[in-house]
Amino acid sequence: MTAEVTDLLQRLIRLDTTNPPGNETAAAALLRDYLEAAGVECECYARVPERANLVARIRGTGDGPSLALLSHTDVVLADAKEWEHDPFGGKLVSGQVWGRGALDMKGEVAASAVALATLAREGWRGSGDLIFVAASDEEVGDGFGLQWLVDAHPDAVRADYSLNEGAGDRVELGGKVLYLCATAEKMSSPFLLRVHGRSGHASMPSIGDNALVKAASLVTRLDAFRVEPQLIPEVAGFFRALLGDVPTAAEALVRAREISPLGAELIEPLLGMTVAPTMARASDKRNVIPALCEITVDVRLLPGETPEQAEATLRDWLGEGDYELVNTERQGGTRSAIGGPLWDAVATFVEAEEPGAAAAPICVAGFTDSHWLRAAFGTVAYGFFPARAMAPETAARLIHSANERVPVSDLELGVRFLRHAAQSVCA
Ligand SMILES: [Zn+2]
Repeated sequence: MTAEVTDLLQRLIRLDTTNPPGNETAAAALLRDYLEAAGVECECYARVPERANLVARIRGTGDGPSLALLSHTDVVLADAKEWEHDPFGGKLVSGQVWGRGALDMKGEVAASAVALATLAREGWRGSGDLIFVAASDEEVGDGFGLQWLVDAHPDAVRADYSLNEGAGDRVELGGKVLYLCATAEKMSSPFLLRVHGRSGHASMPSIGDNALVKAASLVTRLDAFRVEPQLIPEVAGFFRALLGDVPTAAEALVRAREISPLGAELIEPLLGMTVAPTMARASDKRNVIPALCEITVDVRLLPGETPEQAEATLRDWLGEGDYELVNTERQGGTRSAIGGPLWDAVATFVEAEEPGAAAAPICVAGFTDSHWLRAAFGTVAYGFFPARAMAPETAARLIHSANERVPVSDLELGVRFLRHAAQSVCA
């Protein structure tokens, strides 16, 4: 199994699927050939020929729950000059496979495919369908990947449960070992703050009404933004796994800090919406006092919160002024229940793998394709691909960066977990 997943990952890395432009059809074809050879039925779905998604399936014998192993085959740009080994070489060096996508996320693509192929060869069939979805276009999201699939081919990707990227890291906090399982995602809901003034020649500053200067105090105010902490179910579950009890919302951050700085870092952004001004634009000319200053504000909401509520909260916080506040985008913000057969599969695997360790739910700040399945079908979708050999701090520095690589032992751990999940959930 280890040799097989290593070889498949190496071959996937050697196909350059940098998005843009993607060219994920090459990866879909490789996976189809691999899976069909094991007797798994495959179908490619493509909005344009070069951006194919592969869906493979081991049909259930009854009407038990279905599980989709979800992944994406596109990767982000790699600049070979920054790398110690060719980012598209797939080289095996001291037990690690090097290359763009090793962690995000061709490693999990390969592990998912090997889980299906090995189960198929053993003649395993569940009661419900086991589905493999290798989607294109996750990194850019131009509408060729899962978002398009749930819309154009819902029957191909509808599933009761799904496993995807998002978490699986092993963290040690206050002597306790936790494997994080992403059951929810925050909503990305950026705003544009447009501050108005009056233009004039900069040689006579008092002639105008400087929008940039007026924006400065609003930006300072945004930097101080705080909300009443809330305890979402994911954070409550995290504390329960860690401490055996759940603090109040008001105590949560203090408790996390007592455990470790890492605990506080994890928990703080999950206690409420966060606000970070990140871009500013004012006059295009040095000698013209700007009549308009535009500040882009990155805003992340808790699952269940809406941009409309956030706008009201921000207006309250900023008070009256010569500004408009416009929500420019909304993405993600869905959650799945913690508990049930998929949760049990994660928890039992962790406990068997590392006695004393526990699975803990977490809400992630970033967006993943799990959102599309939750939103379209109410799928219970978790981000969980266990990593034990590589520390989460190391992985975080390598994803979307130079020298990305994955330990072969983590690939093997991943295959075993996915097989276990399939056999438990689709049973
Ligand atoms: Zn990814």
